[in-house]
Amino acid sequence: MVQRSKARAALFALFLAATSSCAAKGSDGPRDGVAAATDADRARALLETSAPLPPRVEVVALCDAVAVLASKEANADEQGRLYRLAADLRARVWRLDRADGDAREALELYAASARAARGKEAGCEADRARSILSGEMQADATAAYRHLYLAKRKYGSLAESSPDSPCLAAIDRHLAMAVAHRPTGEELAALEREGDRAETLAKAPVSASAEAEGSAAAPVVASAGAGDVVVAPTGLAPAKGPVKITKIEKYSGEGGGRVVIHLSEATSFKVGALDADGGRDARIFVDIDKAGAKGVARETEVGGAIKRIRTGPRADSTRIVLDLSAKMHRRVFYLPQPFRIVIDVSARAPETAAPTAGGPRTVKRVAIDAGHGGDDAGAVGPTGLKEKDVTLDIAKRVAPLLADELKIETLLTRDRDVFVPLDERTARANAFHADLFVSIHCNASETGEARGVEVFILDELKDTSRAPARIAALENGVPVSGALDPAALDAEMASIANRLGSGQVAASSRILGLLLGRATMASLTQKYPDTSDHGLKSAGFYVLAGAEMPAVLFETSFISNPEDESRLAKADYKQKLADGIVNAIRAYREGKK
Ligand SMILES: [Zn+2]
Repeated sequence: MVQRSKARAALFALFLAATSSCAAKGSDGPRDGVAAATDADRARALLETSAPLPPRVEVVALCDAVAVLASKEANADEQGRLYRLAADLRARVWRLDRADGDAREALELYAASARAARGKEAGCEADRARSILSGEMQADATAAYRHLYLAKRKYGSLAESSPDSPCLAAIDRHLAMAVAHRPTGEELAALEREGDRAETLAKAPVSASAEAEGSAAAPVVASAGAGDVVVAPTGLAPAKGPVKITKIEKYSGEGGGRVVIHLSEATSFKVGALDADGGRDARIFVDIDKAGAKGVARETEVGGAIKRIRTGPRADSTRIVLDLSAKMHRRVFYLPQPFRIVIDVSARAPETAAPTAGGPRTVKRVAIDAGHGGDDAGAVGPTGLKEKDVTLDIAKRVAPLLADELKIETLLTRDRDVFVPLDERTARANAFHADLFVSIHCNASETGEARGVEVFILDELKDTSRAPARIAALENGVPVSGALDPAALDAEMASIANRLGSGQVAASSRILGLLLGRATMASLTQKYPDTSDHGLKSAGFYVLAGAEMPAVLFETSFISNPEDESRLAKADYKQKLADGIVNAIRAYREGKK
């Protein structure tokens, strides 16, 4: 207890020192137009007054306005001042009601201010304020000591150009006050090594990604670095008009997660990532050009691999930040019609293994996806049999067989009559670290004449007829008519899949698809010899996009045909379809081709 209150007293002393020097710092006055002067002046007034702040939402909006102003400012010194102003105000909000999101925003704004005034007194001051806030936020005097020490090392060269630097003198005073919290032994040695790195980084030229986010002391991972895959539409420019973020979907498990950002139209985006530093989590961010953040929650707690999602307006874009529980492998890609940006994070490295020469394959976990569900009935047969009921029935027959016969753990993406978004199904399979993904569906044709079994994978087009494209459009829930060209969508989806995958996953999907068609025909034809086999085809199914494992979509039979529908209603027929799936997985695991 004694130690704790001593630590708190030390933090409070640091905070007082920081705020008093901040208040003493004069304002240089805005040089922009009238509206600009108003926001910055209002922010300054709120910092200097001792009167209570206006409602939180107003102050936060003002902070945002000043930050946007800063991002547009061409003069680096003025930019640094504006970021600092927004940071101080946001930190004040945090000190009043202790919402973590405010502290995190303030930390980023201080970092932006320090970047703008890199190597100068004002940069040192911004980093000093950031260090103190960081220690306060962690409620840890040792952490505060660490951050201040690193700031001192980062601005070591300032002592040469300005021997009387007030910032360095203040840091020295802080460090002297907090000397009781200085780490010792191996921890101190590690801190000194980190200091060496901070000093070196401070002298290095500014990299593009360091410009994008984070302090110079933070290890910056370029968006094209190892473990990062980014698939953006080729040659896409920022949208001409404003873009709306219509929805943000999220799924997060312990092993990974997915965030899907729905946009009102296609636009360009940039991706960056940062390791954990200064009390902040490892994070990945996407800047979406021309997007507005109006009506989108500023901060959403998620839990699991993705701790939270933050949204921040910028000059001509919106930044979406994912705070992660640890550094993760990242994949960011887009899906067309409607335009979405998908952010996948995973504790597991992407599949990079060379194709195995033969022999058994590892299959310990399988994701079985019962198509449709809830409000989405899928296709409906002539007598009213619903696809969603057939697929769930088959999935529930597969799971116990896999467990009993093959000792395989199964994930059902749904185990009852409930709607699960397509994006989330693959996300669950990824987080489950499934070795295979099988999506179960019932086929439908316009005339109702077609019958038989058909298996699909998401790969480059082999069949250029429009039939698979039409089925994919149906399963994707996008209108087949209108301006939409299903074949073009297929080609685009195949291109996304190929740029995402290593080639190995696509090759394995093909093998699984062939085995599934063969095993199903073997299972069905003894009793139903008239079953026709439509073979393996490729089409742009959304539900297969972004699967980290070999994935197939199984069109069991045509529910639109009266005879197939009556069979799909029978337990015996559905059991034979389930047997087909299980036998295909067995054959795949045994290394068959
Ligand atoms: Zn379906």
